Amino acid sequence: MAEKKRGFVRNTKQREVILSVLRGTDTHPTADWIYQEVRRELPNISLGTIYRNLRILVESGDALELSFSGESSRFDGNPKNHYHFACTKCGNVYDIDLPVVDGLNDAAEKLSGHKVKSHRLEFYGICQECDGSAGGGFQ
Ligand code: ZN
Ligand code: MN
Repeated sequence: MAEKKRGFVRNTKQREVILSVLRGTDTHPTADWIYQEVRRELPNISLGTIYRNLRILVESGDALELSFSGESSRFDGNPKNHYHFACTKCGNVYDIDLPVVDGLNDAAEKLSGHKVKSHRLEFYGICQECDGSAGGGFQ
């Protein structure tokens, strides 16, 4: 009983550290990156534990899992729907602060007859870093 309780507390602590690492970055990290960061604080944690807790955080709506074509999943500590840009050169993922398109779910539902609960929108291209010579979007 006491053993079980201690295990529960430890799990909660692990999940808190993982979530705070995730919320402390805007780079949309992979599980591997999160693992390296969390290990600074919890040296004995395993990659499997990281994966398990990330799954729990995603299922409970505290984090988003993003999968881009051909890449390993990335995680986002901002669970509200928002859009992303993925650089096809360096693989970095950035937030795009476009307002979420209202009514898109309804329109898709009407059109298809499926119960649409959410949508995801991803932009692809070359990021400002990789496109250094072009001077980015600030002109
Ligand atoms: Zn790039
Ligand atoms: Mn994001």
